[in-house]
Amino acid sequence: MTVEAHKETLEFKAEVSQVLDLVIRSLYSNKEIFLRELISNASDAAEKLRFEALSDDGLYEGDVDLRIRVEVDREAGTLTISDNGIGLSRQEVVDTIGSIASSGTRRFLENLSGDQAKDSNLIGQFGVGFYSAYIVADRVTLLSRRAGLGPEHGVCWESDGRGSYTLETVEKASRGTDVILHLKDDEKEFLDSWRLRSIIGKFSDHIALPVEMRKEHYGEEAEEKKDAPPEYERVNRATALWMRAKSEISEEEYHDFYKHISHDFEAPLAYAHNRVEGTNEYTTLLFVPKRAPFDLWDREQKHGVKLYVKRVFIMDEADKLMPHYLRFVKGVVDSDDLPLNVSREILQHNRKIDTIRQANTKRVLGLLESMAKDEPETYAEFWDEFGKVLKEGPAEDFGNKERLAGLLRFASTKGEGDAQRVSLDAYIERMKEGQEKIYYITADSPAAARHSPHLEVFRKKDVEVLLLSDRVDEWLVSHLTEYQGKALQSVTKGDLDLGELADKEEQAAKEKAAEEHGSLLEHLQKVLGERIEAVRPSTRLVDSPACLVVGEHDMSANLARVLKAVGQNAPETRPTLEVNLDHPLLKRLEAETDDARFEDLGLILFDQAQLAEGGQLDDPAAFVGRLNKLMLNMMMAGA
Ligand code: ADP
Repeated sequence: MTVEAHKETLEFKAEVSQVLDLVIRSLYSNKEIFLRELISNASDAAEKLRFEALSDDGLYEGDVDLRIRVEVDREAGTLTISDNGIGLSRQEVVDTIGSIASSGTRRFLENLSGDQAKDSNLIGQFGVGFYSAYIVADRVTLLSRRAGLGPEHGVCWESDGRGSYTLETVEKASRGTDVILHLKDDEKEFLDSWRLRSIIGKFSDHIALPVEMRKEHYGEEAEEKKDAPPEYERVNRATALWMRAKSEISEEEYHDFYKHISHDFEAPLAYAHNRVEGTNEYTTLLFVPKRAPFDLWDREQKHGVKLYVKRVFIMDEADKLMPHYLRFVKGVVDSDDLPLNVSREILQHNRKIDTIRQANTKRVLGLLESMAKDEPETYAEFWDEFGKVLKEGPAEDFGNKERLAGLLRFASTKGEGDAQRVSLDAYIERMKEGQEKIYYITADSPAAARHSPHLEVFRKKDVEVLLLSDRVDEWLVSHLTEYQGKALQSVTKGDLDLGELADKEEQAAKEKAAEEHGSLLEHLQKVLGERIEAVRPSTRLVDSPACLVVGEHDMSANLARVLKAVGQNAPETRPTLEVNLDHPLLKRLEAETDDARFEDLGLILFDQAQLAEGGQLDDPAAFVGRLNKLMLNMMMAGA
């Protein structure tokens, strides 16, 4: 104990000062949000206590009325936000307040551009919480004691936010946390209790916990009460927003509530508020954020839905309430029927939870469908942020596959640029007379997809092809094989079957060519040996001399590359080389009498086909060597 009790000075983790500087600079124009952040933290702390006390009501220490207090001391120039929530132990203070060590922080810092406007948006996504205190304070003292520990285990943390902080074990009689802001000289407006009341009304009306301030007395009364103990009064509404009738809640209140639960600084893109009655009674309030969080792709990314049972907060990140592909949705589910002592294990196998999840999923999909229909521009904004996540949907949620597919957007040969704006419905509407399939290509970049030789025949026939270049696309198309009864077909796989689109005469001509040029094809096959499965004349190509094709049921070359890039093994599949017999290079090759030259040209043809679709060569140096030899020959011939 004695070792812990001494006062020590500790350095912040390196990033803290940098983040603080930015917080102060970028949030200054909206500085009163510090109060929302600190009250949010206090309210979370109270909810945590209420939850832990379900299994150990000794934690209440006889004081069950949870509340937050905001007090000013005009003489000292301080503003204090105190709660009687769960509190923090010394170690918890070091881990949470002293470090900003979350994995998001580092990436946040890496994303900083130096452009102040852009960076302030980033800080909104990141959520600054406790540190927003430094917008208005030049020194912050945090006094805390964890519920259940004795009064001698209080801890006092203090810092001016510039590199280091002090930590001391102190006596603290009451559990919970006091955050004391030593206001900067020019921020003394926050000592004005009317100003504070109005901010609390604006930001914290909807939180379920009472926020109290000292009663003010005037005139004679003030004189009388001078030495009496302080009286407090509630200054917010203190009813959980989601329990109020929809008709009584303003748009702005919904937005403020969203900001409270998400620590976002921007309003949400959309929300849905519903009460379900019957055998399984519950209320849901769900939000679709405007911007994707930094950790959207972290494996242990947190879900955004909080579970309450009869108004009591049970857990954050209740991942059973929403499918994984909707992990960006934030909000609250409040059940009347679940037991209060519900644990994560119980949630795993609970029918009521399953029903709630299914209903939540349908609500969010419905919300997105109406957005796509009525506000296509907002939907485009949504898609750019969350499209990649939604693309995980068809693989994860068989039951909603068709609905999800309707929400997907792609880049396309008929779309504008690389933006993903074409829906499968729009594609089907534009399908050519006689076209039976939805054609797509997967590649590892938009440019590689758009310029692939595989698209040549489609361009010639004016048939639209969807351009898929997100990593998740391979996963998507392996699970989404048809939509509205139309098969999805990769243009890089199998013997291209254009169905009614195929030109019968063209086809016959190719077949004849295959016979006529049999010896060329055979010779190429011999030169390329094990590298390929076969050589055949192509119906895909117009301008390019050759391309590579995999079997209908083989893994696409693009997926094999993706797997390799993430360090996984991909099965070896041998592609088929398709050649364009009308191309001058092939004609030249056919006339080649020198075996060594034929071999060089054949290998170059194969390597080029790899490169054209974004592949990597097994032996790039050999390719360069062959190319140089050719160039030198050409120069000498010209000389
Ligand atoms: P966030 O709330 O987004 O996690 P903060 O910087 O606001 O980030 O707070 C960091 C952590 O410090 C919180 O997650 C919580 O564990 C702890 N904390 C902050 N304020 C309080 C408080 N009043 N009572 C108990 N714990 C708190």
